Amino acid sequence: MKSTMQSPPLLISSLLRHGTTIHGDSEVVTWTAEGPRRLSYREVGQHAAQLAHALRSLGITGDQRVGTFMWNNAEHLTAYLAVPSMGAVLHALNIRLYPEQLVYVARHGGSEVVIVDNTLAAPFARLVEHLPAVRHVIVSGPVDDATREALASPPHVEAVHDYATLLADQPATFDWPEHLDENDASSMCYTSGTTGNPKGVAYSHRGNVLHSMGVAGTLGISSKDRLLIVVPLFHANAWGFPYCSMITGATLVMPDRFLQAEPLAAMIEAERVTGGAGVPTIWNDLLHHLDEHGADVSSCRMLMVGGSAAPPALIRAFADRYNIDIVHGWGMTEMSPVGSLALPPQGVEPGSEEYWRYKSSQGRLLYGVEGRLVGPDGSIVPSDGESVGELEVRGPWITDCYYANGTETATDLAEATAKFDDGWLRTGDVGRLSPNGYLTLTDRAKDVIKSGGEWISSVDLENAVMAHPDVLEASVVGVPDERWGERPLASVVLKPGTSTTVADLRAFLEGKVAHWQVPERWAVVEEVPKTSVGKFDKKQLRKRFAEGDLEVVTVD
Ligand code: ADP
Repeated sequence: MKSTMQSPPLLISSLLRHGTTIHGDSEVVTWTAEGPRRLSYREVGQHAAQLAHALRSLGITGDQRVGTFMWNNAEHLTAYLAVPSMGAVLHALNIRLYPEQLVYVARHGGSEVVIVDNTLAAPFARLVEHLPAVRHVIVSGPVDDATREALASPPHVEAVHDYATLLADQPATFDWPEHLDENDASSMCYTSGTTGNPKGVAYSHRGNVLHSMGVAGTLGISSKDRLLIVVPLFHANAWGFPYCSMITGATLVMPDRFLQAEPLAAMIEAERVTGGAGVPTIWNDLLHHLDEHGADVSSCRMLMVGGSAAPPALIRAFADRYNIDIVHGWGMTEMSPVGSLALPPQGVEPGSEEYWRYKSSQGRLLYGVEGRLVGPDGSIVPSDGESVGELEVRGPWITDCYYANGTETATDLAEATAKFDDGWLRTGDVGRLSPNGYLTLTDRAKDVIKSGGEWISSVDLENAVMAHPDVLEASVVGVPDERWGERPLASVVLKPGTSTTVADLRAFLEGKVAHWQVPERWAVVEEVPKTSVGKFDKKQLRKRFAEGDLEVVTVD
């Protein structure tokens, strides 16, 4: 029997319409050097319409790619809404990638128009000559003549426009197309390749709508929330928050380029922020800033953390010292990106050991994400909370393949094919799944340390070291060892002025991890190198070690 229900396509324009009318009074607040700049969602809706008209006038009439090279701000949110809603495909470029990688990603995506923040116009001017598909550059904010000329100089660039002038005369309403297929691409994002080039993922309208509903519902976001979005809009779809805000009417606080702990603390205090989203290093910096300088963060109930494993000590410290609930999430660019969120099940006493175990896990799979574990021989490993395997996932917001445009190398194609297993995505993450859907990752397959035939989790060691009160950051990688094949090397950043030694840290680990896992090799460093999205850059640490650039102390 066929249902009697209507089936309108799930489109980004439906989020735009809902958010900018029903929640028209909610706001996006952009941090600037002069203080907060406010725009209501109603105004965002008008700007989105004007941007869509402007893009049409520049020849974006179908599913061409429109790129952004922007911080988190109101204009970036506007592009997130306008571009997919008009039927084009948004490609938010990661401004922090190395230039060669950025050129690869931008060429592969093939944006014809790119919207650029004025504060990023100079670096973009150095890239644009390598991007032959780019016909128009739109600069948001004032820019000097020399930069404007540099942007306009490649022959393929037809014109450089000023964002405000281009939008000014356009109508403030737009007839958003309703005939789009909900399975068509709405936006795209790239993930870092392991050995080959970055891989592109094209999100669908349907996947994005369902994902945002899942994230908003699971986190319990409402129109009362004021969310500080530190996770960049150019990283993994900003974890769905731009679209969650349209569903729920939560106000967004956008830090633009002010990403240090001090301005973030000021934003929380001044804007009465209730929640936020960012990688562990961001919240770790904020914690140390609050401990040292203080700020009124009493409005904040929840900070979501993900992108790499959140140290349990961080989760506990925010709860104990600031009454802030850190919600640990796991996901991947390939998954739109959220797969699980660590909310303990009913009946678990808050504050109990069991409670903290749940909070430190990668969390419970969201409705819409199915997971299974696979052993090294390809057989299914039971989800019994104890057996370990590689996690595979499937669901409506998980990619089925990588975006191909024919320019990939043989390595890229081989790497891309190897990521899929009979309709499931191989995550490359190793861990345990409990019968009630909680995921505990032990490591990334490529970061696990293989010592004398046994596996050591680099993340477990990092967490144990970071629980020491004098440690600011710690990252552990496997390095070659004659006897054991591989052994852990711990790189640590100590708090200024402490007299803690490597021997003290070793002693601290005894009893917390198995004796044979305690690293003998240590490097005290100024800073742990980070990737473009703020994760510990283990590739870089291994390279520094191999090239003799790390001062390693060996203690037995
Ligand atoms: P990249 O490969 O460029 O880092 P992503 O940002 O998509 O791309 O990273 C996804 C990966 O990040 C996951 O496969 C996993 O290894 C890691 N990750 C994300 N969240 C967590 C988490 N909460 N705990 C541990 N690892 C995580």
